[in-house]
Amino acid sequence: LPSSAKRMTNVEFSKIREISAKAAERANAGHDVFRLTLGEPDFDTPAIAQAAAFEAIKAGDTHYTPNTGIQALREALASKLSNENGIPAKAEEIIVTNGGSEALLDTFLALLNPGDEVIIPSPAWPNYDSAAHMAGATPVHIPMESANGKFISPIEQIETSITPNTKILVINTPHNPTGVVLSKEELQELANLATKHNLIVVSDEMYEKIIADETPHYSIASFPGMAERTITINGFSKAYAMTGWRVGYLHAPTAYYPAIFRVHQFNTACTPGFAQQAALTLLKDGEQAVTEMKESFQRRRVLLQSALEKATNLTVMEATGAIYLFVHVQHNDSNIRDFALRLLDETGVACVPGTAFGSAGEGYLRLSYATSEEDLLEAAKRLVAYVG
Ligand code: PLP
Repeated sequence: LPSSAKRMTNVEFSKIREISAKAAERANAGHDVFRLTLGEPDFDTPAIAQAAAFEAIKAGDTHYTPNTGIQALREALASKLSNENGIPAKAEEIIVTNGGSEALLDTFLALLNPGDEVIIPSPAWPNYDSAAHMAGATPVHIPMESANGKFISPIEQIETSITPNTKILVINTPHNPTGVVLSKEELQELANLATKHNLIVVSDEMYEKIIADETPHYSIASFPGMAERTITINGFSKAYAMTGWRVGYLHAPTAYYPAIFRVHQFNTACTPGFAQQAALTLLKDGEQAVTEMKESFQRRRVLLQSALEKATNLTVMEATGAIYLFVHVQHNDSNIRDFALRLLDETGVACVPGTAFGSAGEGYLRLSYATSEEDLLEAAKRLVAYVG
């Protein structure tokens, strides 16, 4: 038979799923499992969004919507980006997509030629790597630097890795998997690099609203001169506990919007209308729900952090956003994947090995705190005892 496309050979299956599948197997066999693997909020989608979707379905909103998304939602998103993020956004520059994942793939397919390079500070959400390969481009992973228990942007290494083929710089803040939130100064340095070397910035701000109170979130597209070279990606999956609804969006400047829009148009056509109505309702009236979830995540982060700090063989990296802690582990296995599998087998604690986010994650576990406080405490107790 004819073979699959060559560019797919480098697109790996998700390594996050490997450990979740093993955890599910263990649970099905009747053993206890503490799942710290989940990359999604454990809350129900807020009731006002559910009600809006039911209403929309009853009113017949079950057909195609405009390809770009419903106009009221695009307008509300443009206001949100202008008012909250300082991005000079217009409704005509917004595309509503099937989650942030589609927004990313549309962008890469539209902007990258074979041979172009994409700089990805790593560890990183695996989709950047796979989307680059799917576009026939080359992902260039630059290991993030760690200093005093904190990851920082590897600015110098990024600069020395730039070649004439470099086209896109990926920024993700708050960051999956480390929970790091980039400071204004770091973002300014990255913006300077992008301008100096004429790069497009793809800024993934999916976890924007899940962030510690004292930590501000900055959008790089709001920095002087950056809106024209930045694609901002965001969505409702994490902030509003809507992973299954598939509502994401992107903001693209005039130079890039038409190409990205054509990929979206011929790829998914549109996001379901009733899901867009639910999202619109939350943009207008969802503040309280977001605050409640954010506070709960904050409590759980602090709880998990302090439970783990007791162990001398664990280093909890500083994290102030998203729903993850990235924890360095001293162990005797040959790699962190083996350790994670053994940990699950012997204690029932399921965490994602850092290498699921690239080789820069070797030695680390990603612990999601999107699970009950009771489970977090028990999982932490078992992990601490295990490495001790
Ligand atoms: N960006 C980051 C950093 C993520 O971790 C995720 C999901 O895990 C997404 C974007 C995309 O989310 P979705 O496609 O579910 O909207």
